[in-house]
Amino acid sequence: MNSDLNWDTTPLYPSPSAPELTRSFEEGASQVAAFRERYRSKVAGLSAEALLEALRGYETLQEALAKPQLYAYLLFAADSESDENKRLSQKSAEFGNLMGRELLFFDLEIIQMEEEPFQALLNDLLLAPYRHFLEVLRKFKSHTLTEREESLLSQKSLTGVQAFCRLFDEVSASLRYTLEIEGEKREMTGEEVLALLHHPDAELRERAFGTFLKRHEEHEILFSAVFNNVALDHSQELELRNYGHPMEPTNLGNEIPTPVVESLMQVSESNYPLAQEYFRLKAQLLGMPRLKNSDVYAPLSDSGRQYSFDEARVMVVEAYRGFSAEFAQLADSFFLEKRVDVLPRPGKSGGAFCMGMTPSLDPYLLLNFTGNLRDVSTIAHEVGHGIHFMLAQRQTMLNYHPPLPLAETASVFGEMLLTRQLLENETDNAVKRSLLCAKIEDIIATTFRQNVLTRFEERMHLERKEGLLTASQLCDIWWEENGKLYGDAVQMIDPYRFGWSYISHFIHARFYCYSYTCAELLVLSLYQRYLKQRESFIPIYRDILADGGSRTPAETLAPAGIVMSDPGFWQDGYDLLRDLIEELKKLV
Ligand SMILES: [Zn+2]
Repeated sequence: MNSDLNWDTTPLYPSPSAPELTRSFEEGASQVAAFRERYRSKVAGLSAEALLEALRGYETLQEALAKPQLYAYLLFAADSESDENKRLSQKSAEFGNLMGRELLFFDLEIIQMEEEPFQALLNDLLLAPYRHFLEVLRKFKSHTLTEREESLLSQKSLTGVQAFCRLFDEVSASLRYTLEIEGEKREMTGEEVLALLHHPDAELRERAFGTFLKRHEEHEILFSAVFNNVALDHSQELELRNYGHPMEPTNLGNEIPTPVVESLMQVSESNYPLAQEYFRLKAQLLGMPRLKNSDVYAPLSDSGRQYSFDEARVMVVEAYRGFSAEFAQLADSFFLEKRVDVLPRPGKSGGAFCMGMTPSLDPYLLLNFTGNLRDVSTIAHEVGHGIHFMLAQRQTMLNYHPPLPLAETASVFGEMLLTRQLLENETDNAVKRSLLCAKIEDIIATTFRQNVLTRFEERMHLERKEGLLTASQLCDIWWEENGKLYGDAVQMIDPYRFGWSYISHFIHARFYCYSYTCAELLVLSLYQRYLKQRESFIPIYRDILADGGSRTPAETLAPAGIVMSDPGFWQDGYDLLRDLIEELKKLV
């Protein structure tokens, strides 16, 4: 095994059995106890100076607690079959849960402070660096219960809604599929079957997708029970915590007003014909009268090119260099400092991620590189996250993580840089077409499709209020919302009625999906500004990333002239998609 392709976690701890790691857990716990002793029931009476000291202490604590947990996470992601890693990961999860409950009081006491003294603290210049953190906490004031109630809810959720999530995960991961490929019967995981949606053979694509969905249908009792429970749990949360609409808690956390989210969704819906236009064009490119929804990601005949990892690395770093030398240098630091785990292997986590660490620890990337163009694009994406985290390291711990609507900014922007760079260097029209199609399909998947998912989720929660939803009702909602996107441009295959049952976002995070739509359109808009302003845009963009989570999304974006509450802003993003489709048409 080439050791350069594995990440090096020794800068964190020498090994999972190192005494330094044991000490980190022990010291973390005793620091939490000391912090609790010092501040419990006293937060409301603190002066600005004293609160500043408490917040700094809280941050130091959070950083100290994060380090061993992040280390445990990385080791488990790299090899989940090792017993040592499993034990460490479980220990870390229980440690995190307990420490979280021990520290709950601090946030709650800030939330419950009287309005007048709180406002005085908020306006104190000493606390300016924490103003955003304090404001975000206070937004939940009328939705928060007492410490005892919060702690009980959190503890009981382990056997409540979280148990249903775990059941969903375990059953989904255990499903195996038998498919005949080129005369040979093969046993496959869900991830492998869904990867066949990119296979050149239309019959195989449809059979693979159908097999996958029918297996889910066989478990319809389980899946509809899990979905109903998640929805019932959420409606109880809304009631207990005084929320109106099912999306309100998510929107509050995202710091995006509900009418802005609604406008994002309506603008997306009014652009569905754009997606349909592309689907018709793709059918033409594939020589089909009409696409089935199993054909949407079909490759064009000429996109099977393979890249070595070294080639991929150079392509990504050079794409960033075309934007700025600093970005290229940050991108390359992952490879130079061995903070990337490159190749797939048994027991390693699937997919790809960038693990943002803390302001004093550099981020790590996990990839499953197999050498195709999508993998190269994934590197550009994850490296983008990494650059975002590294630029935000000038923030302190409580201000380090970007807010959700901005979390995918640098990643998607990086993919755009790579696509543009490849298009510019390419002379073969067929390859250009493939590149453009890949980009357009990506945009459709992160905007329109996520909008369909969000509408499904919204209806599921609203209709669950009227009573239990049967599997066939869930299927009907799913079919209707998807039908709006596909229109008569794409024929949905019959088993797709159960397409809702495998989307884990519905189970794990309420209304997460629209943040993809939001992020993609934001990036398209930023990219358009870059095209117009070139050099002068770079420092503005850099500052947006370096802001981390220190300000609201609206404040962070203001210097770029972006106003999310303006529906025209979302339309700008779709206009760029239209331009890409026009560019493709010229090559057809
Ligand atoms: Zn991402």
